[in-house]
Amino acid sequence: MISVEEALERIIAEISSLGETRVPLSSSRGLVVAQDIIAHDDIPPFANSAMDGFALRSQDSRSQNGVPPRLRVTGGVAAGYVADHAVEEGTAMRVMTGAPIPPGADSVIQIELTRYDGPESTWVEVQQEVAPNNNVRPAGEDMHKGQVIMQRGTEIGPWEIGILATLGYANVPVIRRPRVAILGTGDEVIDVDEPLRPGKIRNSNSYLLEAAVHRAGAEAHRLGVAEDTVDSLREKFREAATYDLILTSGGVSVGDFDLVKDIMAEQGNINFWRINMRPGKPVAFGHIGSVPLLGLPGNPVSTAVTFELFGRPVLRKMQGHTRLLKPQIPVVVEDGVRDRAMRRHYVRAHVEWHDDHFVARTTGNQGSNLMTSLLRANAFVIVPEGGVTLQPGATAKAMMLDWPEV
Ligand code: AMP
Ligand code: MG
Repeated sequence: MISVEEALERIIAEISSLGETRVPLSSSRGLVVAQDIIAHDDIPPFANSAMDGFALRSQDSRSQNGVPPRLRVTGGVAAGYVADHAVEEGTAMRVMTGAPIPPGADSVIQIELTRYDGPESTWVEVQQEVAPNNNVRPAGEDMHKGQVIMQRGTEIGPWEIGILATLGYANVPVIRRPRVAILGTGDEVIDVDEPLRPGKIRNSNSYLLEAAVHRAGAEAHRLGVAEDTVDSLREKFREAATYDLILTSGGVSVGDFDLVKDIMAEQGNINFWRINMRPGKPVAFGHIGSVPLLGLPGNPVSTAVTFELFGRPVLRKMQGHTRLLKPQIPVVVEDGVRDRAMRRHYVRAHVEWHDDHFVARTTGNQGSNLMTSLLRANAFVIVPEGGVTLQPGATAKAMMLDWPEV
């Protein structure tokens, strides 16, 4: 039996990031850019006004013997248009924010520092001297043509999307999303729309995993449920082996019908199949052909916990992320954890901020078959291996499931 850390290390070592593809800009959030993003234009593309005001030659703004200069207004430029003539000595042009600076002008005086006679005024009185480039946003001030703006490996969020938009990246080179095959196992497992019959339970895990895979940014494909026979498993694995990752649930323990490991050994390899943790000791990792397979335990809570611990980092690595793991923070465990575990225990809990520290309250009975222990859980309190109990008010580490990876 290996430790959680060793298991994670051994899994991650076998996973590489997937190939590159292009996606429309508005579908790129959460993906990672696969190439350096270069500015193909200066941004802003042209010198423009930072204010509503008058474009002028700065030397024309100097007062003569204390009298503010009065300039002739020869026209105006709105944002989106260009001036059809130049600003010459003794003249000015009305400009709006974002309008290109007319030729001849080197400065803009904001409207509040002038006097003029309404929108059609033919004159403007300049009430303060302005320096060259006053209120002028030069071309390329933000980004210049040829500059690397984002390095490959950058995760795309809303702000990156804004930058890609201004640079004209209608399609973005990204690491593609993994395609994940999700396979249930067990003669007892029926689909959600079937009525319960004696001995049968509904398939929780495939749906739980489908949603968890989506949340990790990958594509999920439910391939149904294999019966507990070698033939049925072989057939399902044949199909599953065309995906980037296979996730199974159940059938990896030591029962008579736990056949997933047998098929792994037959058609690929088993890297390990037990981890010193609870819930979720029977986790198998290996390959079917060259496709990595993560065999998660059958109990739905174990499936959920082991996916967060191992499946999610795998999918992040495949997508080119470098930050793979959820942060762990110190919390005060309000209600304690009484049951001794020899294995590392991941206790479902709700963590929230209280005055000046984080407080965890466990979600009740922690049996790995009790799905209600997942409700309201936004964290796992980590109880170290070795029969440790946490008294109420003890401090422990919690893995924050709803915080971004670090
Ligand atoms: P196993 O490891 O196959 O013995 O499964 C362990 C437990 O998980 C058993 O009680 C199974 O009935 C249950 N189980 C296995 N697969 C699923 C599933 N897809 N949905 C809900 N429970 C399952
Ligand atoms: Mg089973």
